[in-house]
Amino acid sequence: MRIGLPRALIYYYYYPLWKCLFEQLGAEIVISDITSKELIQKGIKVTVPEICLPIKIFNGHVINLLSKDVDYIFVPRFVSIESKKWFCPKFLGLPELVSYTIDGAKEKILTLDINGKKEDTCEWSSYRPLCDILEIREKELKKAMAAAARSWQQFRQCCKEGLTIEEAEQVCNHGVSKEQILSERHSEITLGVLGYVYNIYDSFVSMDIIKKLRQMNVRVITFEMMDEKEISNRFGKKSKRLYWTFTDKVYGTAANLMRNPEVDGLIHVTAFGCGPDSIAGKLIELDSENYKKPFMTLRVDEHTGESHLLTRIEAFVDMIKRKKFAEQRGEPA
Ligand code: SF4
Repeated sequence: MRIGLPRALIYYYYYPLWKCLFEQLGAEIVISDITSKELIQKGIKVTVPEICLPIKIFNGHVINLLSKDVDYIFVPRFVSIESKKWFCPKFLGLPELVSYTIDGAKEKILTLDINGKKEDTCEWSSYRPLCDILEIREKELKKAMAAAARSWQQFRQCCKEGLTIEEAEQVCNHGVSKEQILSERHSEITLGVLGYVYNIYDSFVSMDIIKKLRQMNVRVITFEMMDEKEISNRFGKKSKRLYWTFTDKVYGTAANLMRNPEVDGLIHVTAFGCGPDSIAGKLIELDSENYKKPFMTLRVDEHTGESHLLTRIEAFVDMIKRKKFAEQRGEPA
C-alpha cells in the first residue's frame, strides 16, 4: 500500500509522526515533490482566487501525488490539539476542499478527524477510523501509534534544542550528529523568525529565509524551537490569547521574544490571504513599538520575487547589526 503525503501545510510539523505511523503499519510513504512554480500554478488553477497561498500550494501537492500512483493521499482534518483552541477554518474543511476541487482526488483521500487535547495527536479516538479504512487490527494500530508518538517527541526535543525542522529530521532519521550541527553555527545577532511552519520551511515560499539569515551570521529562533511553557509565558495573565492554535503559538513566541534582551529583532513571514495573521501581525507590530524591538513583516504570494525579498532582509539585518555594534562601542545607535 502506497500512502501519499502532500509536502505542505502541517506536514512540516507532523511528518516524523506520520512517517513512523504508516511505516509501522507496513505502508510505503510517497512524498510530493518540492514546491516549484509549476506545482503552484497547478494548485492555483483549481483553487478559488481569494484563498490563502498555502492552500493553493497544498492543492498543487495533491495534484502532484495523483501522478505518483498512490493508493491514498493522507489529508487529516485538524480540528483541535489543545483545550479551547482550534485550527483555522481552512484546516477544518481541507478534506472536502481537496475532494471537490481536484478531479480524481475524492476516491484517494484518506482522512480522519484530529480532535483532541494532545499536541502529538496520538489519541485513540482520532486514529481509530484507520482500523476500518485500512483493515488493520486495533492492537496493530495502537502499537504503531505508540511508536509514532515516541518518534515525534524525539523530533520535538531536537527542535527545542535549537534545531530547525529539517535539521531535527536529519538527526532523528538519518543519524546526523546534533552536536556537529550546533557547533557549525556562528552568530553576531539573534532574530526571531515568526510564521507558520509551512511558510518558513517551504523553500519556495520563504525563499530559504533561515539559510539566508545564517549566511549573514544571524542566529534564528522560530516558534517550534520554544517550549510550550515558554510560549504560554507571555505578557501576563491578562494578555491576549488567540483562538487559532498555530497563530497563538506564533503570537506567544513573539510576545516571549519581545522581552528577551538576547533577541535583536523579529521578522514575521506571512502569506497573502491569511485571515488569522492579519490579527496576529497587527498585535506583534503594536507590541514591537511598546518594547522598542525592531520588527519587519514579509508578506509573500505566488508573485513574490527572490531579489526583492533578499534586499529587504539584508537591509533589516544591516540596520540591526549597525545599531548593536554602535551600542557595544558606547556610541549613540
Ligand atoms: S492560518 Fe492563514 S495561512 Fe494558514 S491555512 Fe489558515 S488562512 Fe491559510
